[in-house]
Amino acid sequence: MRVFLTVLAFCWFLVGVFMVLQYHREKEFKAELLDTRLQMHNEQIIQDLRNGEDIINIIQKIDVPVDGLRVTLIDSKGEVIYDNDTHISSRPLSNHNNRPEIIEARNFGKGHAVERISESDDIPYFYSAQLGDNGLVVRSAAPYTHSLIDFLRADFTLLWIMAGLTLVMSLFAFWSSHKISLSITRLSRFAEKAERGEPIYDEEAFPNDELGNIASNIIHLYVQRDQHHKKALKQEQDKIRLKKQLTNNINHELKTPVASILLCLELLEDHPELSDDKKTDFMDKIKINAQRLNALLLDVATITRMDEGATLIEKENVDLKALIDEIIEEERLRTNMKIILDIPSLIVYGNRILLESIFRNLIDNAIAYSGASEMKISADSEGNFIIRDNGCGIPSEHLPYIFERFYRVDKGRSRAAGGTGLGLSIVRNAITLHGGDITAENNNGLTYRFNLKVNKNATKST
Ligand code: ADP
Repeated sequence: MRVFLTVLAFCWFLVGVFMVLQYHREKEFKAELLDTRLQMHNEQIIQDLRNGEDIINIIQKIDVPVDGLRVTLIDSKGEVIYDNDTHISSRPLSNHNNRPEIIEARNFGKGHAVERISESDDIPYFYSAQLGDNGLVVRSAAPYTHSLIDFLRADFTLLWIMAGLTLVMSLFAFWSSHKISLSITRLSRFAEKAERGEPIYDEEAFPNDELGNIASNIIHLYVQRDQHHKKALKQEQDKIRLKKQLTNNINHELKTPVASILLCLELLEDHPELSDDKKTDFMDKIKINAQRLNALLLDVATITRMDEGATLIEKENVDLKALIDEIIEEERLRTNMKIILDIPSLIVYGNRILLESIFRNLIDNAIAYSGASEMKISADSEGNFIIRDNGCGIPSEHLPYIFERFYRVDKGRSRAAGGTGLGLSIVRNAITLHGGDITAENNNGLTYRFNLKVNKNATKST
């Protein structure tokens, strides 16, 4: 606003200077116009005198350009030899050669004086003098009557138009600068907020002009980047939290089997007298706990690898039907549960080990926890899977949490079954890494639904 007022003041100053100059020019123009008329009058008298006419006759017949015009003839010595104003001519008159219009006329042929008070009758006149023959000067003097003053007055129309236009321009400039300052004020308010780290919303309305558009684009970009930054920060924090959680849980999960192994070893060491059956018992316990530790380490390694990101995981075209067939063959060796596979040939561009862990975990879980007699794995050609068992299902209050790390429905049973509590978490992560999502529901047993992104362009390779 301060800039605007400075510029406006400068504009008004320029307009003021221009108006004063124009006013003077206008007055000069009017004076020149009157001078030209009077000089024409003088010229005519000189011409008539040259033709030998008498001055009285000339004055009587000649057209008078201005009311009350005084005509004076001054000889080469400066003496007034004629003045049509008898009142003046009857008085003794001083030498006229020192009058400015006469000096000018003698020097340049023509001369004039504006609003000079006559020494002869104390009235202001407009004098125009012209040098004639033999040093004779003819002078016409127009008295400043109302009509002459009106005539000589500058025409203010143009000046009023200029003042009006400047006012309109100032109002327009004020309106535009108000719009600009609106954008600038809002932009600086945004900058202050951003500096203080206060929340900024992308709903600030800006005037619909270039600056307004630039300002709202800046804010839009800032808000977008801010959201992106916050999202990345949250993801990073989640990752750290999960890692911490994982470390804590691992410590916790490790404690029991390690303590159990140590206890068995101490007992074996301290009591060599124990019977062979007892010793075998302790050895079996050590073996089971070591297997638990091994399973835990494997699962943690898988989870950690997935956490590191998809880029670190090697991918290839995997024939899912063949892969699941192999898993089922192996599982059949250790279960009576009927496993039905009903899927078309599907090629997924992914990590073979992770894909295998999806199906192995789901089948293992059904065997370990569901008590089902039958399990069916079906899919369509788009990679939409439904895996259903006819077992006990999962109590609905547990369902929302089963994909969380180390979440177990029945802790004792899970541990007894050799579970780490990481199985379904690995399944969900592996599916996410292959472009899908998984849900679980109770439906006369447990039903999982998930999808894997199928590579339809790939040729079969296993
Ligand atoms: P774990 O690695 O210990 O097997 P999971 O994450 O695989 O743990 O499974 C979480 C819990 O979900 C298990 O403790 C088990 O109680 C329950 N569960 C998983 N699958 C089934 C199923 N098919 N039927 C019933 N319960 C299941």
